[in-house]
Order: sequence, then C-alpha cells, then structure tokens
Amino acid sequence: MIKIYNTLSKKKEEFKPINPPNVNMYVCGPTVYDFFHIGNSRSFIMADIIRRYLEYSGYKVKYVMNITDIDDKIIRKSIEQNKPFKEIADEYAGYFLEDSKKLKIKEADVFPRPTEHMNSIINLIKELEEKSFAYNVDGNVFYDVSKFKEYGKLSGKNIEDLISGARIEINKDKKNPLDFSLWKKAKEGEPYWESPWGNGRPGWHVECSAMSCAHLGNNFDIHAGGNDLIFPHHENEIAQSEVANGEHFVNYWLHFGFLIINNQKMSKSLGNFFTARDILKIYSAETIRLFFAQAHYSGPLNFNEELLTASQKGLEKLTNLQKKIDDEFSSETRDGIMPKLDFNKYKTDFQTAMNDDFNTPQAVAVIFDFVKDANKIIGENTNINSEFYSEIKNFLQTTAEGVLGIMDFTQKEEGDMATKEKELIELLIKLRQNAKMEKNYALADKIRDELKDIGIALEDSKDKTTYKLKVN
Ligand code: AMP
Ligand code: ZN
Repeated sequence: MIKIYNTLSKKKEEFKPINPPNVNMYVCGPTVYDFFHIGNSRSFIMADIIRRYLEYSGYKVKYVMNITDIDDKIIRKSIEQNKPFKEIADEYAGYFLEDSKKLKIKEADVFPRPTEHMNSIINLIKELEEKSFAYNVDGNVFYDVSKFKEYGKLSGKNIEDLISGARIEINKDKKNPLDFSLWKKAKEGEPYWESPWGNGRPGWHVECSAMSCAHLGNNFDIHAGGNDLIFPHHENEIAQSEVANGEHFVNYWLHFGFLIINNQKMSKSLGNFFTARDILKIYSAETIRLFFAQAHYSGPLNFNEELLTASQKGLEKLTNLQKKIDDEFSSETRDGIMPKLDFNKYKTDFQTAMNDDFNTPQAVAVIFDFVKDANKIIGENTNINSEFYSEIKNFLQTTAEGVLGIMDFTQKEEGDMATKEKELIELLIKLRQNAKMEKNYALADKIRDELKDIGIALEDSKDKTTYKLKVN
C-alpha cells in the first residue's frame, strides 16, 4: 500500500486511484524562455521517480506535463532578440526535451501547450463568468476570490492572512488584491488571441486548470509541482476548476522542496543557478539523480559541488558491481554454486521505503546495502553460477535503474562497443605488421596515416606497436 503526503489534507494518506490500475498525473512543467536549471530538475526528476515507482507497482500512469509557451518572459525575450515569440518558445522547448532526455526523465504522454488549448481555456473562463466568479474590466478578466468560500484550502491560509502575507501587485481594476488574471488584454505589439473579451491572452493559472482537465478529466489523481506553486498557482487552479466543473479537482497534491544554494532558493530571477545542461557536462544523469534521491522530495535540499562529487563517488560502488555483472554476462553461462542472498528481503525493504511517501533516501540505502552484501559474496566465492548474477542484475534493473534511474545497464552496449573498437585497432596494427614483413611499406604507412587522421597515433618501439589517442 502506497502512502502519499497530501498537501490538501496535510496528512499521509493511503493512495487510492480513481480508476485503478489507471493513474492520472499532472506535473507543472517549464516556461520556455531559457535553459532550465538544476533546481527545476529536482522537481522534474522527483516527479519522474514517483511516476516510475507507480508504474513499478503495477499502475498504468498517464503523465501530463505542460510546457508554458506564452508568457511575459517569453514575450520580453522575443522583443530583445527580435524574433517571433513562437520561435523562442519552440527553441527552448526543444532544449527542455533534450536536457530532460539526458537526465533520463521518461517522456510525458502529453506535453500540452497553452497556445494549442485556447478553446478549452476560453471556455473555462466563460464558464466562470456565467457563474459570476469572473469579472471583466475593459478586456481584462479577473477571478473574484471572495466568491470561492474554500479559497486557501490548499495553502492552509485564510483570505486575510493571504492578503497581508502575499506580495501582490497593485492593480486598480481588481476588486480584491487576491483576485487574479484569467484573461489579459493585449498590449501594443504583443501576441494575442481573439476572445469574447477582446484580443488578449490567458493568465498562467487558468492554463494549467484547462489543460489538466482537458487531458485527465475534471477529477484526477495526482497533481504535482514545486513548493512555490502551492500559493497562488495551485490554490488558483483549485478555485477555477472546482467552480467551472462543479467537481472535486485533484485527489492528491504533491509538492517538491526547493533546491537551495547559500540559503536561498535557486531561481532564474535571483541569478543563483546552474543550468542542467552545464551540470550535465561534468556529472552523469545517474550522479545527479542519486544526489536528488538521497534526500526526501518534500524537504529543502542544499546544493553544492562537494555533495555532487560525493554522489559520484558513491555511484562507483554501483558501477563496479555492474561491471562485474557485465563481465559475467559476456563470458559463457557457468555452472557453480548459488550463494544464499535473500533477494526478496531487499525487494520488500525497497518497496516498504518507497510505499512510505516515496522515501527515496531509505530506498537508496537498501540498494547500497544490497550492493555491499552482493560484493561480499562475490569476493568470498570463486565459482558462482550465472543465475546468481542474473538475479542481482534483475534486482538492480528493476529498482536502481527502473525506478530511481541511478544505473543504466544499456550503457553496457557502449562499453562493449568500446572493447570492440580496441580490438579493431589491434587488428589494424597486426595487418600493418604483416604489410611491413611483406615489405609493403606503402600499405603500412597508409594504415598509420589514416589512423592518425581519425585521432589515433601509433607508436613503434623495437618489438611492438602501441597506440594512444592523439590530442589536437
Ligand atoms: P518554472 O519554470 O520556474 O515555472 O519552474 C518549473 C518547475 O520547477 C516548477 O514545478 C517549480 O516549482 C520548480 N522549481 C523552480 N525552482 C525550483 C527549485 N529551486 N527547487 C525545486 N524546484 C523548483
Ligand atoms: Zn501549473
């Protein structure tokens, strides 16, 4: 039984999907005007681990992540760079998908974009207007927060607290400072869409309400995002969707703690960020994922390079065992002893950890215990049969690789290819040796020169030829 801490009830609750084995899950994705940073990656990776664990547990997850492709920052960048906003959004959406793939984040089933959902968005606002929860001031439409009696139920605050606590822009058109934009009237030179209220574009909150319901229904299982989105973004989504559809919106709200740096939230506006793209130049996806998995998703997490380096070192224990397994599988099936290792115990421990509100630090600890115990057995026995290695691989493939994404057994193929490349070079060296013996110096030189052209330098000594990669 999986238990999830639900921001709405502020309790850990047993997870009961609406229509098992199906699970509908929506995660607030990026606004595409820049590369995403390693703070955003924390939310995306933890959501990915949760999705993978639900799948591991037998659920069929429909996973939706929006890509916000129209917004003030995108427009600003399009003006700065003198390019259409769509070009900016498409370019950075492309980088987002590329970098997510490099971080081994499973693709969403749908990546909805507001510009492709204008009808659903406009219909939702119309519905709110008909029910008198929205008001139009000269082409700007606002949500009337005072009408929604349950406003504040997600963030756990009442309206007065929210007014005094929130940094809210002063806008003379609003009846109440907490009211928020549903439709923004187009300013001179801005992109716009036609609507019953005139030309303009939607507010951010209404986009997620419309797109999540369009793909997952009015009432769905899980909605997730970073802590910063609880208020006002998710609070507003609830206010919009529940009024427009007359149904309970989301059953489980999940929120990810911030990645912080020098005691501040890592964010684009503070300028204290590293892009995922840059970090990936130095650390593997597995290292970054292990770094995140070692902390529970809900709390804050400090970022510094020493911690990443520590994860990198920790990961070596896993890759060393993986290498042993790979070596075993490249040699022939072997009979021998089947040592005693209680695979089921580790499996149960892993599941117990993950069932408890996706306790990844505990799950990682189980994996490392397993690796330590497996290594000990391998070190103490010489004639272990192939079945034992196969069981080890199976456990790690389903948990460390399949759920946490901190191992990658497909990299073995690359490893194999690297071995084959070495063998090919040795073969060419041998052929060159033969050519020399037959006094075919032209061919011998050709082999040496062509290898040099592809960056491999041969070095002849008295009795043998070695090679090394040529540095340009
Ligand atoms: P944004 O592009 O800023 O709207 O953020 C996309 C997602 O990343 C949202 O779910 C944010 O809550 C999340 N996010 C932004 N900054 C951080 C951070 N420092 N740590 C964790 N998650 C973050
Ligand atoms: Zn959202």
